Amino acid sequence: MAARGQSFSGMRGLAAVPSYVVMQPTTLCNLDCAYCYLPFRAADRRMPVAVAEAVAVAVNPWAANGRFSVVWHGGEPLAAGREHLADLIAPFGPEVEHHVQTNATLIDDDWCDFFVRHEMRVSVSVDGPRARNGDRVNRGGQPAYDRILHGISALRRRGLPFSALAVVSRPEPGLATELYDYFLELGCDVLGINIEETEGVNTRDNRHDPLAVSAFWAELVGAWRREPRIHLREIEWSLRYAAAVLDNSADGVLPRQLDPIPTIGHDGSVIVLSPELAGFTDPHYGDFSSGNVLTTPLAQILGDAAATPWVGEFLAGVEACRASCPYFGFCGGGHAANRYFELGRFDGTETEHCRNSKIRLLEGVLEHARDHESPAA
Ligand code: SF4
Repeated sequence: MAARGQSFSGMRGLAAVPSYVVMQPTTLCNLDCAYCYLPFRAADRRMPVAVAEAVAVAVNPWAANGRFSVVWHGGEPLAAGREHLADLIAPFGPEVEHHVQTNATLIDDDWCDFFVRHEMRVSVSVDGPRARNGDRVNRGGQPAYDRILHGISALRRRGLPFSALAVVSRPEPGLATELYDYFLELGCDVLGINIEETEGVNTRDNRHDPLAVSAFWAELVGAWRREPRIHLREIEWSLRYAAAVLDNSADGVLPRQLDPIPTIGHDGSVIVLSPELAGFTDPHYGDFSSGNVLTTPLAQILGDAAATPWVGEFLAGVEACRASCPYFGFCGGGHAANRYFELGRFDGTETEHCRNSKIRLLEGVLEHARDHESPAA
């Protein structure tokens, strides 16, 4: 499907302007999920308003020139409290779209009012039915599922649309259908599925039987095709790519330059490409940051980000992927954090993450297509 060399030529650099920024209003999370990658989730290190003001100086003109989002991501962003989150949002202009990724446990009517007031788009983390949420626990180790559902019920009661994000730790037969049916019933309008990743402080093994993973994705396509009422992120990406290959337009699927996706840490430090690297330090790579918005304008930090030593190494790894991987045109070279946490460096190529979530995803979609091919007329 994705012939080697089929994707565009020329080294991929970083775009000067991102399509969104990720902001960490606090490092604190009120849950303690078993697969979480965050290093300081028990500590409430809050973002000062001065950090948001500095980010807004760059973001407001970008948003005036086209669609632009700020994604509030923690820790648990709602653990920062409504008052503080409102103070952090205040410097951003009306064109900026606000999104929040939340564990939903703190959502109540007051938070729903807040979402309405700030036109904030909500994405909740939930792994499917109760029995599938065993890893999502509070600090006392007690299941968080009832609290999660309580929060989602508030959104539903108020008629607020929401997305959902589910982590799959063990792909197994029947799971994809079970999950899809659950999320149909839950009422989300967008669904993302992540196969659990070994990264950050989560050192659990993410190696799986390749056939089980592609079968999981193939089953998910089947479930979605029966009732395509939810935007299913991974499946829609794959189908769009498959259609482009058939159309001979696969070269245009990936953007010419990598979106730097800056994450602004609670202290103003800027980590490009992978939010999961925020808060970590390495004897060789340092703290992974490309600068701090309290001392340098964000636009300048992004303009110089390719000179950050680990970023240059990652860009070399992307080129190694282009030269060696038949899935490059779909994947674009994977994620920096997965390389670092799995391979210990940034210029490697295949990781378990890319096998689970790129290679086997595309194979699963093709498997489904083969199994459901219309007989020739
Ligand atoms: S990250 Fe993995 S799937 Fe993506 S291009 Fe590189 S080797 Fe291929």
